[in-house]
Amino acid sequence: MKQFLNKLSRRSFIKQNSLAGAGLVLASAGASSAFSINNNAAQKPAILGGPSAWSATKWPTWPQWNPETDEKQVLEVLRSGVWSRAQVVTQFEKEWAAALGAKRALAVVNGTNALVATINQMDIKGGDEVLVPPYTFIATVSAVLSNGAMPVFVDIDPETFQIDPAKIEAKITPRTKAIIAVHILGLPADMDRIMAIAKKHKLLVIEDACQAHLAEYNKQKVGTIGDAGCFSFQNSKNLPIGEGGAIVSNNDKFMDRCFSYTNFGNPYGTAVGSVGTGSIMQGTKLRFTEYQAAIGLAQLKRLDAQTTTRHENAEYLKSQIKDIPGIVPYKLYDNVTKGAFHLFPFRFQKAGFKNLSRDLFLKALQSEGVPCASGYATLNTQPYLKDTFESKNYKRMYPKEMLDINQYNERNKCPVNDQICNEEAVWFTQNMLLGTREDMKSIATAIEKVYAHADQIKTAAKK
Ligand SMILES: *Cc1c(COP(=O)(O)O)cnc(C)c1O
Repeated sequence: MKQFLNKLSRRSFIKQNSLAGAGLVLASAGASSAFSINNNAAQKPAILGGPSAWSATKWPTWPQWNPETDEKQVLEVLRSGVWSRAQVVTQFEKEWAAALGAKRALAVVNGTNALVATINQMDIKGGDEVLVPPYTFIATVSAVLSNGAMPVFVDIDPETFQIDPAKIEAKITPRTKAIIAVHILGLPADMDRIMAIAKKHKLLVIEDACQAHLAEYNKQKVGTIGDAGCFSFQNSKNLPIGEGGAIVSNNDKFMDRCFSYTNFGNPYGTAVGSVGTGSIMQGTKLRFTEYQAAIGLAQLKRLDAQTTTRHENAEYLKSQIKDIPGIVPYKLYDNVTKGAFHLFPFRFQKAGFKNLSRDLFLKALQSEGVPCASGYATLNTQPYLKDTFESKNYKRMYPKEMLDINQYNERNKCPVNDQICNEEAVWFTQNMLLGTREDMKSIATAIEKVYAHADQIKTAAKK
């Protein structure tokens, strides 16, 4: 503790000199008197009426767009009148596959339906089980349910927020067909261990890389390690197009089938409008448009540099906050060579903050001008599961005991995830990581201010 406080005051001193007197000295944290020259008001956290550590108006906005460099091809598409799937979509697919080092990519309407189509074309259907982490966006699980399959939750590793490989094998049954390895928050899951388990038990691996564009494991882009990878281009994602998604794989037969499935079952490569080709299989329609592809091609040009900036800023911010008691930043697996950091996660442990609640911690940080959130609710306990199990289709496909929600809940308990979701997780969004080093320091300063005044913040909230 003492060591931390010494470091804190030293760092605050450096900040004070580099941040032009922003009032960053932490007198009440026990800093030596030489550093306690700022007036008290300046040191007070914003939630107690002091000045904020950061001005919220300055965070990089999202999505980024530059009319001069980004609009030429979009305008060409708009003026051409060719708006349904044609050569710009094909160009985008080629460039996205090349960016990942994948053989093939298929652009579709969104990430959710990239997952739905992938699961469908892996022939995962009613009666099958799919292993999923509970710490993910709802779409991972709803894509399993849309195909009539049964999600089985595997608890997470609290240090990395990812599916815990050590807990996978206990959940495998004769019904298990696949593991969905979600690279949640843009941090890669432990793919070597997941692939080894999948190989041993002859399971398919679907990578939900919807938050992990250009993240790498062993220098290989995530989404290209398992049997297929799914991406989202929704507006908040690291490659934003408004809406959009892609399936990537090196398996030609699978990709041909995905094309057909998302184009009415027409044979692979069939052009839009050629109704005479007929349908070779049952399909639906999940097509991407030409203007979405043109926006995507523009966004793709900045993705690599943005990913590097996020990774570097995340590691720097981590180094700046890791010694604050009660703050436990994310850990990357040893084989991770790059994180995409769709979000910057850390665990807030209130014992280190004089039992200040996470809610108050978040409020105090927000008052400093640092946007933050507590993240996901527990996905394995929500009403959509019971609702699905009571549906006509599910009752026809599964034995009664598999659909009993109480038994299901018992089998799918994830205590680590409960703790992370309900008590500890804190997120910063990816656009903040596109800021400067000084911005990252300001985040650290804001956390330090809250840390140093945890008692006062608690007392003020009680009044
Ligand atoms: C965003 C997201 C999806 C779904 O993508 P959409 O394009 O929004 O449909 C799926 N999985 C994860 C982990 C996501 O973050």
